[in-house]
Amino acid sequence: MPYIDDCIQMVLERNPGEAEFHQAVTEVLRSLEPVIGRHPEYEKAGLLERLTEPERQIVFRVPWVDDEGRVRVNRGFRVQFNSAIGPYKGGLRFHPTVNLGIIKFLGFEQIFKNSLTGLPIGGGKGGSDFDPKGKSEGEIMRFCQSFMTELYRHIGADNDVPAGDIGVGAREIGYMYGQYKRIRNVYEGVLTGKGLTYGGSLGRKEATGYGLVYFLDEMVKARGRSIKGASVVISGSGNVAIYAAEKAVQLGGRVVAMSDSNGYIYDPEGIRLDTVKQLKEVERKRIREYTAVHPKAEYHEGSWKIWQVPCDIALPCATQNELDGVSAEALINNGCWAVAEGANMPSTPEAVDLFLGKGILFAPGKAANAGGVAVSALEMSQNSMRYSWTFEEVDAKLKEIMTNIYKRASQAAKEYGLEGNLVAGANIAGFLKVADAMMSQGVV
Ligand code: NDP
Repeated sequence: MPYIDDCIQMVLERNPGEAEFHQAVTEVLRSLEPVIGRHPEYEKAGLLERLTEPERQIVFRVPWVDDEGRVRVNRGFRVQFNSAIGPYKGGLRFHPTVNLGIIKFLGFEQIFKNSLTGLPIGGGKGGSDFDPKGKSEGEIMRFCQSFMTELYRHIGADNDVPAGDIGVGAREIGYMYGQYKRIRNVYEGVLTGKGLTYGGSLGRKEATGYGLVYFLDEMVKARGRSIKGASVVISGSGNVAIYAAEKAVQLGGRVVAMSDSNGYIYDPEGIRLDTVKQLKEVERKRIREYTAVHPKAEYHEGSWKIWQVPCDIALPCATQNELDGVSAEALINNGCWAVAEGANMPSTPEAVDLFLGKGILFAPGKAANAGGVAVSALEMSQNSMRYSWTFEEVDAKLKEIMTNIYKRASQAAKEYGLEGNLVAGANIAGFLKVADAMMSQGVV
């Protein structure tokens, strides 16, 4: 379709070198062809040109002093992508690979994900190329304070509410919240993923992982399958991976492999999550240490090799493009029948094509991992009300939201002649709400 081809070309030319952003935009716009065909008014309104250009991009210096007294400088980012349906909402990522293209891809995906939740939140994302690994507590705190010393002027409970992502957990959120409060002298829900003693929501820590498995459960049930008795391989051993594993086990699955960026552990009897939590959440150690506690388990160097472990269900929960065409083939050849993405864009386009082509049940991240941001939005509501819901209340709302996302995505796919294709369905359903709001608000 010429309009879509032109828009993709424009994005590639205007944003050179931003490979992940190109990949995300191409994937979404291609899947919108049937929608644009039915809505010629979108072209006249320049809707896709506006949708692919962030409303605001903030890039800033983050100077801090390390334990040896040396001055270090990192780069900070906040991309406020789209506020058509609510205040910008999306996590902060601290990882050495972070650059503007990665933050833009994540912010772009966030627009559709947030729309799919049915809650009033726009899309944004941020972070820094700071590497928390090997840093002392003092260094982490000073970095977070310096980061917030610039970021505070761009965010607020009613315009932009960041959360965590890779490398940003409760500890980092706490340091950033403290600094925000100190500078602004206001006590407001400007960040989500906060500790429970200062405005955090019960169930937020578990939300992305639990939500992923609730979505998976809906998807497999619709095909007469079950998580019960299934073997599950989960990449990563961070926030999303740990709580996906916990919920998968609660629903009768057996998690046999998990990983970090160095390698993976394999335990055919089922991975002991209490050990993984102790190692990763408390001691901040490498996943290889698991075998010291459970000598019967195996450790293998090379995180990507985890996809060679035979399983029924694969849950990529580490990072973008971690599962390529070769890994997808290995999974399929070993009998894997369902894949649900906990991470953002973990499967390469080749891998997605293979899964869809071979009839593997496939849940795209922007639908399946939306539970985290959904509960973040619930945290915002609780902060506004100055009230807290119980864990059971939050979990019940999360489950309902994930069921509705599944219904919206599968319904949209059906309506546009792509039944069973949740990639297209999620993009279309997420897009339509944002597009409608943008059309109503005029050329802004
Ligand atoms: P964490 O920092 O808690 O954990 C990330 C995990 O992924 C770690 O085990 C890490 O290993 C591993 N990892 C990171 N980079 C690589 C890599 N290049 N290769 C292999 N493994 C890697 O992050 P989260 O669990 O919060 O996030 C994981 C994914 O889920 C991300 O894509 C994020 O955007 C997405 N997501 C997170 C949400 C949330 O609520 N937290 C919400 C929605 C999506 P190591 O320790 O060795 O670095």
